[in-house]
Amino acid sequence: MTNFSKNLLWTILALIAISLVFSLFAETGKAPEKLSLNQLAEKINAGEVINIKVSGEDLDVTLKDNVKAAAQKETEASLTETLKNFGVDPAALQKVGVSVQNQSGLAFWASILIPTLLPLLVIGFFFWMMFRQARVGVNQAFNFGRSNIRLSTFGKERVTFSDVAGLKEAKEELVEIVDFLKNPKKFLDLGARIPRGVLLVGLPGTGKTLLARAAAGESNVPFFHISASEFVEMFVGVGASRIRDAFLTARKAAPAILFIDEIDAVGRQRGAGLGGGNDEREQALNQILVELDGFDRDTRVIVLSATNRPDILDPALLRPGRFDRRVILDLPDINDREAILKIHAKGKALNHQIDLRKIAIRTPGFSGADLANLMNEAAILAARRNKKTIAQDELYESVEKVLLGPERRTRAISVHEKEITAYHEGGHALVAATLKGADPIHKVSIISRGFAGGYTMKLPIEDQHIRTKTQFVNDLAIMMGGYASEKLTFSDVSTGASNDLKEASDLARRLVTRYGMSESLGPVTFGKTEELIFLGREIATEKNYSEKIAAKIDDEVRNFIEHAYAVAEKILREHKKALEKIAKTLIEKETLEQDDFYALLKPFRIKLVAV
Ligand code: ADP
Ligand code: MG
Ligand code: ZN
Repeated sequence: MTNFSKNLLWTILALIAISLVFSLFAETGKAPEKLSLNQLAEKINAGEVINIKVSGEDLDVTLKDNVKAAAQKETEASLTETLKNFGVDPAALQKVGVSVQNQSGLAFWASILIPTLLPLLVIGFFFWMMFRQARVGVNQAFNFGRSNIRLSTFGKERVTFSDVAGLKEAKEELVEIVDFLKNPKKFLDLGARIPRGVLLVGLPGTGKTLLARAAAGESNVPFFHISASEFVEMFVGVGASRIRDAFLTARKAAPAILFIDEIDAVGRQRGAGLGGGNDEREQALNQILVELDGFDRDTRVIVLSATNRPDILDPALLRPGRFDRRVILDLPDINDREAILKIHAKGKALNHQIDLRKIAIRTPGFSGADLANLMNEAAILAARRNKKTIAQDELYESVEKVLLGPERRTRAISVHEKEITAYHEGGHALVAATLKGADPIHKVSIISRGFAGGYTMKLPIEDQHIRTKTQFVNDLAIMMGGYASEKLTFSDVSTGASNDLKEASDLARRLVTRYGMSESLGPVTFGKTEELIFLGREIATEKNYSEKIAAKIDDEVRNFIEHAYAVAEKILREHKKALEKIAKTLIEKETLEQDDFYALLKPFRIKLVAV
């Protein structure tokens, strides 16, 4: 509940209480009938009055049959005197019991104090509320510049290096840093300088945050962590003061590790900002630089930081003495993937026959986070199928689900569409199976997944870090295989091929402009691309070539595509029977696994060809 609504509630409660008190007082004066003094005198003379109670000027009259009435006497005079003046027969008055009540009781004081004090109390209460509110505001204003720095506690969720698979070099680096903090003397005696900052660099999901947490779990020194986005505030200067506070906190606890996650939020190159908020970010960045420099030689605080955008970081951050150590976290290779899968298989009810290696083979390019997600999806899938354990099937399915999105069996497709998709995917698969050096087919399917109508999964035998021109040209021909197959079979093309064409065009353009793989243009790159190497994405390309070259580039891109199309068409024409067989089987079975697919092709004795 917010402060405001809390206060409102209190106010309403107070008002209700006040009105209750007032209504009590109102009650007492309401009931009895009011008598004027001569009416009272008449009633006394008629012998109807039994009793009169006097309190101050108020007369409580009890009539016959216990009927109550009220009256008032004159202020100065006594009751008997007043009544005599109104002509009461003294004999009649003697029959009336008169009692005088002294008003010194609680009721008397309450009747005086409450009406006067209560409004004062109410007003005071409101003022108190207002002041309290203001004080909270002031406190908040003072807390604004404080960082929300958190001290990791090593409770149940303690993570150690054994929870991190692979990342061998990165782990070694961090082990060394932990060692620095534990035995600084060993290093200082040799004249070594303790590193100030370590930057963990890697694609999203490669385990940067996880590794930092593991370092925290291993080091046994205080470990503070904060996300750099908390330094970006609407008000200029707040971020900077938060940074000051974060560093101060860490320094007080030295030896300590300060982990700033996602540092690119403030670490962008200065002066390169687009849009607002730039000034604030620059100030925050400057403050980080100042703090990094400001460490004394022997201050044992190491700043750990993580980013997936090292290319946009300000160079000043990366110079020696600041984040001078860079630890690169690569995507896991096949062995690491298996190890990561094993870690995330812990605590899951896996079938005994499960082979995680086979999953690792199918998942090149998956990050640690993807693999963790895969294991979880498999468990969910098994639960949905009311199984007691997770089987290999669920794992395979999850690979595809993570890769392409969930299967959409329910999407109704017409018989004709199914046929088109079958020939399309068959085309990709057959071209891939015919080309020398192409990656083997793992699965062909015409069940739509995510946005894809069908898919052909081909995977390299081993992880690759570089690719050759031959491989690229193969890839282009395989991409064009779907389009060529549709054209050949139906003399028509569908929208199903549009994504293939786009990808093929992009790839061909990269071959020409970036990899210098075009014969006619030679080993030259074109366009100064501000490229996010880590993401393999371009943000902006500056044209640094003439229109004449631009036209030549377009021609070369077209040549690559046309050549690829020709290769694909030739293969499909030559093996028309094989294509038909694949397509018919796909229409019938919808998916073909690796073994089934190659068994299907066997009778056709396809000879491998080079592009
Ligand atoms: P980021 O690099 O984006 O900070 P995280 O460290 O948050 O990635 O990783 C996300 C999740 O992926 C982790 O919580 C963990 O479950 C899983 N993961 C990533 N890398 C590994 C790894 N090397 N070993 C085990 N699990 C990993
Ligand atoms: Mg992270
Ligand atoms: Zn396709």
